[in-house]
Amino acid sequence: MLVSHHQELRIGGAIVAINEQTKTNAGEKTKLIKEGNELEAFARSLGADIYGVAAAEAFKEFPKKPQPSKFVPDAKSVVVIGMSFTPELFATVAKPELAEVSRKGAEDAALEGKHLGRPPAGAERFFINDEQAMLTNEVVKIGYKISWKLHREGYEAFYFAPFRQEARFRTAAFYFTPAMYLAGIGQMGLNCSILTPEYGPRIWVTTVITNKELPVGQPIGPTYYEGCKDCLECVKRCPSTSLDGKGWKNVFRCASYGCCGTCLSVCPVGSA
Ligand code: SF4
Ligand code: SF4
Repeated sequence: MLVSHHQELRIGGAIVAINEQTKTNAGEKTKLIKEGNELEAFARSLGADIYGVAAAEAFKEFPKKPQPSKFVPDAKSVVVIGMSFTPELFATVAKPELAEVSRKGAEDAALEGKHLGRPPAGAERFFINDEQAMLTNEVVKIGYKISWKLHREGYEAFYFAPFRQEARFRTAAFYFTPAMYLAGIGQMGLNCSILTPEYGPRIWVTTVITNKELPVGQPIGPTYYEGCKDCLECVKRCPSTSLDGKGWKNVFRCASYGCCGTCLSVCPVGSA
C-alpha cells in the first residue's frame, strides 16, 4: 500500500497517485500527468506491452530488499516496462513432446539421473529460449532509451538488464517483483512470479530508477493473488517439486532443473 499523502486521481481512464507534499497546485499536477502520459506513450511506441511506475519511497514496505536509492540517491520513481511472450510459443513449455524430447526423457529416466551434467528430461524451454533472448534484448533497449530520454531532460536514470545470471551473484542487485506489485502491474502468485491480468506471469520486464517524479500506480489487490489457493496448478506440475505451495521456491533446485518454465506455462491467469 502506498503512503497516505498520495492523492488518487482518475485521468484518462488511468488511476494515478500524486504526491500531495510536492504537488500542491492544479498546474503542477496537470504537468506531472502530462509528462507521465508522454513517457508511457514513448515506452509503448518502442514496443512495451507492460508499463507502470512505483514510487521509490514505497519500497520502504520491503526493507530487506535493495532500495532504489542505492542506485539513484534521490530516487523518486521506479518505471517498470516489459513485453509479453507469445501465448502459442509459451504453451509449448508444457508440451515437451512437440520438441520431440519424449525419447530423450525416457533415456534420462533409464539413466536414473546420471545424465552427464545437464538438466533431466524435458526440454520444456526448447521453443522459448530464442524468444526469451529476443525479449531480453528488446526490453533492455527500451530501458536504455527511456534512461537516455530522462537523462537529456536533466534527470538521473539507472536501468537494469532483465535477468542477469551470474554464478558469482546469489542475490539480485535489485528486485523487480516489488516494483511490479507497487506499480499496480499484478499480484504475486504461488509460482513466485507476478501475475498480470493480461498476460499472467508470461512477461519479461526490466526497470528504470529515476529521480524524476512521475504519476505512480496503485497495487491492484493484496500482495498474493487470491485465486491461487483454489488452483495450485503450478505447485502440482513443477517437475522438480521446487514450489512449496505457500509462496516459496527452492531457487537452487529450480535452477538445477533448468528453470523449465512449466509453472508459468500452466498458470490460468491471463490466458483467456
Ligand atoms: S519452479 Fe522451476 S522447475 Fe518448477 S516448474 Fe517452475 S521453472 Fe520449472
Ligand atoms: S498456477 Fe494457479 S496457483 Fe500457480 S500462480 Fe497461477 S493461479 Fe496461482
